[in-house]
Amino acid sequence: MHELALTFAEIKAARRRLTGIAHRTPVLTSATADAMTGAQLFFKCENFQRMGAFKFRGAYNAVASLDPARRAAGVVAFSSGNHAQAIALACRLLDSRAVIVMPSDAPRAKVAATRGYGGEVVFYDRYREDREALGRRLAAERGLSLIPPYDHLDIMAGQATAATELLEQTGPLDMLLVPLGGGGLLSGSAVAARHLCPECAVIGVEPEAGDDGRQSLRAGHIVHIATPETIADGAQTQQLGKHTFPIIAALVRDIVTANDAALAATMAWFAERMKIVVEPTGALAAAPALGGRLELRGKRVGIILSGGNIDLERFAALIARADPARLG
Ligand SMILES: *Cc1c(COP(=O)(O)O)cnc(C)c1O
Repeated sequence: MHELALTFAEIKAARRRLTGIAHRTPVLTSATADAMTGAQLFFKCENFQRMGAFKFRGAYNAVASLDPARRAAGVVAFSSGNHAQAIALACRLLDSRAVIVMPSDAPRAKVAATRGYGGEVVFYDRYREDREALGRRLAAERGLSLIPPYDHLDIMAGQATAATELLEQTGPLDMLLVPLGGGGLLSGSAVAARHLCPECAVIGVEPEAGDDGRQSLRAGHIVHIATPETIADGAQTQQLGKHTFPIIAALVRDIVTANDAALAATMAWFAERMKIVVEPTGALAAAPALGGRLELRGKRVGIILSGGNIDLERFAALIARADPARLG
């Protein structure tokens, strides 16, 4: 196999940068989940990570990797989700400045959270303006570094530390289930698993409404889709990245999907059985496992619960409507 762009040495370096800064999140188990699946499931709880999702790992690693002059000048990111908050918090911790480009109709809670971490929010009209062009203009005018949410080696190396930590906590696994949006977490996890546990089958899970990852894996090239309609707002990406795709194509065993009804049922299951709040995107990897859609009998399976950021109101509405029969 030819060299992949992301090396295990870079993941180890990210690990060192994050030590004592990112939380070493707990791995939870559930006798009920094990009885349902006939497997041993290990849930890596990144919903307990700083700012509520694994995105902090990549964002901090990327900002910390900038040379000091660039870091002092500041960072620009466009996102209304977890990446925005992660960059804002990372910049605050590293004495940098974060400028976050968000649509003018972004949820108030997300705007408030980003500002709460010290980020400056610049709004754009999502129907009339191109956010990437705006981000590039801000970068040029103010000398900011643009840090994308997934297609960036320092981001991928940082996200990978969730999997290295999990494998340290559990020992060897037969399978690792990872949620998939643009593929920063999945590509990083796959490189980590290849080094620490080469026998482990790494599987990505994406929303059924946006299965561009599965299509890309089958086609052998990046497939672009329209923005998918799904409650998994952290995985509404239109395509994998030019850095993430080759790694996923080389190392990931398969990509499966979960629909919105299964995600809501999975969130309700976590609240009821394990007493934890998982956001819709964070429930992706667990859905096919708990729903019996994968053959797991006798296996040791790692599952990344990637985040827990959701308004209480939305959470309550989703779990109230969830149908336990739709688990899976
Ligand atoms: C961003 C995000 C994902 C998807 O990560 P990618 O690196 O884009 O594939 C999954 N879950 C949560 C909670 C996220 O915020």
